[in-house]
This record gives sequence, structure tokens and C-alpha cells, in this order.
Amino acid sequence: MTAVSTNQTARFSARRIYSVPLGCKVSRIDAAALADSVEGGEAALAGPGDADVLLVHGCAVTDRAERDGRRLVRRLRRANPRATLVVSGCLAERAGGSLARMPEVDLVVSLAARGALPEILDAHAAGLLPGRIVTAADAARAALFAMPAAGRPLEALIDPDRTRAFLKIQDGCERRCAFCVVPSLRGKERSARIEDVVDAVRRLGDAGVPEVVLAGVHLAAFGHDRGTRLVDLLARLEADPPACRVRLSSLEPMEAGDELVDLVASSRVVVPHLHLPLQSGSLSVLKRMRRGIVPARYRALAERAARANPRLHLATDLIAGFPGETDADFAETCRFVEDLPFASLHVFPFSPRGGTDAAAWHLENPLASGVLTERTRALRRIGAAKARAFAARAAGTTAEIVTLRGNRGLTDHYLEVSLELPPEGRLPGRRLQTRLVSGAAGMPLEAHPC
Ligand code: SF4
Repeated sequence: MTAVSTNQTARFSARRIYSVPLGCKVSRIDAAALADSVEGGEAALAGPGDADVLLVHGCAVTDRAERDGRRLVRRLRRANPRATLVVSGCLAERAGGSLARMPEVDLVVSLAARGALPEILDAHAAGLLPGRIVTAADAARAALFAMPAAGRPLEALIDPDRTRAFLKIQDGCERRCAFCVVPSLRGKERSARIEDVVDAVRRLGDAGVPEVVLAGVHLAAFGHDRGTRLVDLLARLEADPPACRVRLSSLEPMEAGDELVDLVASSRVVVPHLHLPLQSGSLSVLKRMRRGIVPARYRALAERAARANPRLHLATDLIAGFPGETDADFAETCRFVEDLPFASLHVFPFSPRGGTDAAAWHLENPLASGVLTERTRALRRIGAAKARAFAARAAGTTAEIVTLRGNRGLTDHYLEVSLELPPEGRLPGRRLQTRLVSGAAGMPLEAHPC
């Protein structure tokens, strides 16, 4: 029996795997490939005590081989009580159930699932696996949630006209907002490496994609799991601009600090558009939502952004009719929203999500549906007026647009405009400097090339 060790640069910090293959040549080849799949090359580890992952690739050809496998599991666990202990190979196929009941074992990975070990380890660390036995279906699901391992290309979703690419750079959320099921679905926060994101953005820009949208479940928490920050990433892009512009998707204001707001407001690369979900403008409602932010802090962020860049498009999400929201709470929200420099509001009538505290409160004390509808409409009216005012302020100014299909364009500050261009100039995906002029009543702004 030989111990094979690999020293890896992994998701959080160095992930070192100590793997022990048992059985035949095929089992040893499989074990080596498995250990190697967890990113990077090989380096000798002194012993199991230094590993983050212990891998027993076991044999089941005889009862004795099975006993040897279990004995090895116990020995490795004694040598390293902290590491993630994985059993794979024929032993896992044959005795998965009983192995999973051993207290020493963290994961039993079926042969069909072994190709996704890095993703499985990620999903395990993120608390996303349903149990200790990992089937091919679990592995496929884990792969959906995994952040690409270090050095592996990030996936991007590019729209058919190649006018925008959506790049997932973060996943998971460790907050506990009272109305939200996302943490239970997406697991713990995990991020791609800054250098992998910079590389992906650069490749997309060089490939002619004019805009890259950085996306995450809790984007503002980007890097928390790696000791880095979103502002560090943006500063890297600012220092060596890619060929495309960059847009940030929704950012929870609890983590979006002054530095981030200042960077976005003054950036040559990141467009002047911040989507900071507020959810409510009432202190008591925010407390019940467990949002972890107070109106005064939100106001400071919003006003800082508007002062730093009057062109900046500030957008937000609002929940109308959160359980227990009184008329006074709602009036407070309306006043607060009216008072802030929003350019657009996304208003959602409260809808109970099973398993959340808010759903239980809703059952105890449901808001009359008429009230819910009226509050939603009232906030949407405010939103429409804010959007009109923002567009009116943009009239007569210049803006860089990305051309879209159908004689339309999207400005850097997130206004959809109609394009005044000859047919040959209307190819989607071009970046153009334009002058914005008011369109006919009720129509979007018109963008005329500068
Ligand atoms: S609302 Fe956002 S921050 Fe809150 S739990 Fe859901 S994903 Fe996390």
C-alpha cells in the first residue's frame, strides 16, 4: 500500500489531499486520478496529519479487503480528526450504507460520482449535500452549485446577440433574512479567485462582448471566503481596464461599504449603476426582516453615491406588505423612498416562502389582500415617477450605449433608449458615444451618435 499525496491550491486555502488506494491496479489508477482531480499537481505530504482531505479508495473483492478498508478509515481518522474523510472505490459501491454510518466517515462517493470530487468537496463545505452518500445525481447537483476550482475558466452566460455576458463569481449566502429561502438552497458563501475573474472578464472583452455583468447570490460578500473583497477585484480591473465595460448585479447594502460606492461612482470600467435592495424604509420592519441594516445607514450610502456621481443609477428592491407592516410603517417607507435619489424601484408584494419565519408570521396575521395590492401600487407609482425624473435629468446629456436588437440601446447608467441610427449601423453589441434627447411623450429617450 503506498500513500500518494498531492498539494493543491484549492477553494478556500491550500487543499491538501492524502489518498490511500487499496486493491488492484485499476483501483490505484482511479485513486491517483481522483486525488489529482482536486486541482493542481503533486507534492509529498509528510503524512495524513497534514491533509485537508483524507481519501480511502477502497477494495471490496473480499471480506478481508473490506475489513482492511474500515481499519484504514479508523487509523486515518485517529491521525487526523479535522480533515474531510472520503471513501470511494468498490468499497463505497459495496458497503456505502454502513460506511456512511461510521462516525469517522464524512462522505461516501459512488464510482459514478467520483468525476466531480472537487465540486462534491465544495458542496460538502457549503452544506449543500443531502447526506453522506454521494450519488451521481448529487454530484451533478453539486457541480451546478460549485464555483470553478482555481485556474478553471468561469462560466459565462452570453445573450444571443452577444451584447452582454453574465459571469457568476460568487454563490451562497450566510445571512438569515426572515423572508428568504436562498441560504437554505445555495449554502455557504463561496467565491471565485480574483485572478480567475479578471482573466474571464478580459477574455470576454477581447472576444468582443461589450458588457460583462458580475453576478452572485450575495455578490457584496465576494471574497469573504478567501480573505479578499469585491473592491479588490474592481481595483484590479480599474488598474488594467478590459476591453468591455463591467456592470454589478444586485449588492446587499449590509456589505456594500463606502469604499465600494466610491469606487463604482468614479470608475472608468464599472458602469454607474448600483442595485442596493432596501426591502423597507421602516426601522421596525427592517428589524423584523433581520436585514442587518437601518434606514440611516442606507440613506448615507445612497446619498454618498449620488453626491459622488449624479449620473449614477441607484436601483432598489422593496417588499410591500411584509407581515406586521402597519399603515405607519408603510407611510414611513414611502417617505423614505421618496426622499432618496432612486432611479428605479423593483416592488414585490410580500409572498410567503414556506419554511421562513415571515411565512409563519403571515399565517398568524395575514394582511388583507386589498391592502397588499394598494401598497404595491403606491410604491410602483413612486417608482414610475422616480424613473421619469431620472430619464428627464439624462435628456441633453451624453452617454455610452451598447446597441441592442430592434433599434434600441442600453446606456451605462441603465436606461433603455431608442436608437437613431441608419440600418447599417444598428448591429447589436456595439459601444457608441451618444447624445440623449427627449423622445415623444411617454417614449424612451432617443440616443443620437455623437
Ligand atoms: S435576502 Fe439576500 S442577504 Fe438576505 S438571506 Fe436572502 S440572499 Fe441572503
